[in-house]
Amino acid sequence: MKIKLKHRNYATPLSELLRELMRVARIYKRKTISISEYQRFGKYSVEIYFRRLGGWIKSLEMAGLSSPYERNASSEKILENLREVFIKLGRQPASSDMKKPLSRYSADVYYGRFGSWRNTLKVFEEYLNLAKGERRSEIQKLLKQHRKPRRRAPTVKLRLDILERDRFCCRFCGRSPATHPGIWLEIDHARPFSQNGKTEFDNLQTLCNECNSAKGSRRIKV
Ligand SMILES: [Zn+2]
Repeated sequence: MKIKLKHRNYATPLSELLRELMRVARIYKRKTISISEYQRFGKYSVEIYFRRLGGWIKSLEMAGLSSPYERNASSEKILENLREVFIKLGRQPASSDMKKPLSRYSADVYYGRFGSWRNTLKVFEEYLNLAKGERRSEIQKLLKQHRKPRRRAPTVKLRLDILERDRFCCRFCGRSPATHPGIWLEIDHARPFSQNGKTEFDNLQTLCNECNSAKGSRRIKV
């Protein structure tokens, strides 16, 4: 028979996590607390709240408290500043980016409010997810761009697909190196890459070097 021992479950019950939030809020005699305020008196790590309850604002809501970012204008101000820095940089800011003139507030302001840069970004994430319209979509666009860098050169497979589709002939003049020695074929972006043309099947075409240089856009030699 298999030996089975009793294992204690060390996970803190949710009710206990929520009671702790209410307790700390009572210390401040308020209906809301920021992360850094909680950290001064709270028993559990902020990470537990993010992991178990899905975020700081969600945790507060579950404990019957309200979001500190609605009442506390200055928190909203510094989060909005972070959003503006994000857009100016075109990427997620690091704490070292938070300098004048790029940022109105230094990283220390964020440390003071949220405890650390890590927590700042967590709260900022919450803030963005609650934001609507352009305030949200601008950041979403930037994040998407970073996930998928645009690629100019087609892969070898794509290159061959294009050549085969165009039967190894120039799409403009119809010549091919087989019948016209001295010319060669290139893969061209129909809508130029510089004008946001994509490196994909429908936007690529086979051109001979002469037609392509006459067309004047950047070319890729095959
Ligand atoms: Zn041609």
